[in-house]
Amino acid sequence: MPAVPDAAATPPPAGRPATPAEQRVDARLDAIRHHPQALRAFMQALPKGGDLHNHLSGAVSTELLVRLAAQDGLCIDRTDTALPPPCRAGTRSAADTRTDPAFRQRLIRAWSMQDLPPGESGHDHFFAAFGKFGEVTKRHTGELLADVAGTAAANHQSYLETMVSPAGAAARRLAADVGYDADLARMHRALLAGGKLDQVVRDARQEADRATADFRRTAHCDTATPAPACRVTYRFISQGTRSAAPEQVFTQLALGMRLAEHDRRFVAVNLVAPEDGAVALRDYRLHMRMLDYLHGVYPHAHITLHAGELTPGLVKPADLRFHIREAVHTGHAERIGHGVDLAHEDDAEELLRTMAHHHIALESPLTSNAQILGVSGDAHPFQRYRRAGVPVTLATDDPGISRTDISHEYQRAATTYDLSYPELKDLARTSLEQAFLPGPDLTATPRTGTTIGLKARLQWRLESAFHRFEQRVLRGTA
Ligand SMILES: [Zn+2]
Repeated sequence: MPAVPDAAATPPPAGRPATPAEQRVDARLDAIRHHPQALRAFMQALPKGGDLHNHLSGAVSTELLVRLAAQDGLCIDRTDTALPPPCRAGTRSAADTRTDPAFRQRLIRAWSMQDLPPGESGHDHFFAAFGKFGEVTKRHTGELLADVAGTAAANHQSYLETMVSPAGAAARRLAADVGYDADLARMHRALLAGGKLDQVVRDARQEADRATADFRRTAHCDTATPAPACRVTYRFISQGTRSAAPEQVFTQLALGMRLAEHDRRFVAVNLVAPEDGAVALRDYRLHMRMLDYLHGVYPHAHITLHAGELTPGLVKPADLRFHIREAVHTGHAERIGHGVDLAHEDDAEELLRTMAHHHIALESPLTSNAQILGVSGDAHPFQRYRRAGVPVTLATDDPGISRTDISHEYQRAATTYDLSYPELKDLARTSLEQAFLPGPDLTATPRTGTTIGLKARLQWRLESAFHRFEQRVLRGTA
């Protein structure tokens, strides 16, 4: 472990005046603000800390998914869904994409937001993609990770928290075996009985071992020429599927939280699938009570929740009033994903004060919100959270499906909200301050005679990268 860096490398307190170098970089940013090509180069080179909100299967590039489907000999049915071989009548081998460009393009469109036809629902097309390529992604966690980490490195990020569904089939079987019990403590005991849940924890850890080995092999991490992906620190967040039966959601959450307490590669749980789905709406409060109970059992497992990924019309007005609030107050969320329906929440100002006071961050994927919800610009509460003092970080959500990357998100935020260079730095710093990593913040790390934890080390690297970036911009080489 490196020794504590000198004071020059530690981040200054928020709200401080810009340094002379920052002022000059900001002037450069203003000069290129309306020149998309130069702005893209600036945003790509900008050090951006970590991506705290992305789903591994939706983050990977669609071209890689098509290539893996062909390699695995999968079959594509009439709805563009990948199925295991052998290919039955009415399906086509995915290998045909190698020789038929129109077929390949059709798959790319079905599995991403590329060329979304006018009139088609972005929400429906986006969420349907996961089911269509699910047969591909479940076979290749390590390769997916190498692709996503490589993209993060190319966009000057050093950290990734990516969402996965550990031991999916085993967790489903266990949930079906145990069944639902409204007494959550009793349901938890039934999961633990006979070491059943611990067996699924072991399955998930072995799966992570294989994924790690596949990642390192794919990215050549143990050779003399490791890919940049190898420099990216990554952690897993376990997904619970909010559209599933209650016993399955509870089992997935219990598994994810038990994993987080036993394996440092897993840090947190989240709830996924459309928040506006019938079951997700029906069980929203039940899911928050599940988290409340499990938080008592597994207090060291982190919790981040998709909440308020909703708009008027997508759901009835009553459903817009409490999701973020309940996630914070009952679900123990340390971070909120999306939070788009803030204006419709009961006493939104009080909710903002609570989030700011407890440093509950907003993970904000602006392109995803535009594509799925049609919410962007001033209709999006991005600036309202920031003005209220809520820690805000940019995220990609599903950049493979969106066909974007984190640099695009920074460019979008800077352009839409006229952000300054110091404000962009704050967004990047927040991504590491809010990371679910052990150890104190760099600012809270003693100055001398000690070593620093992983979180502070990544923060130190970010501050050093800012310094180099500013020097390059001012020399005119970035
Ligand atoms: Zn998400």
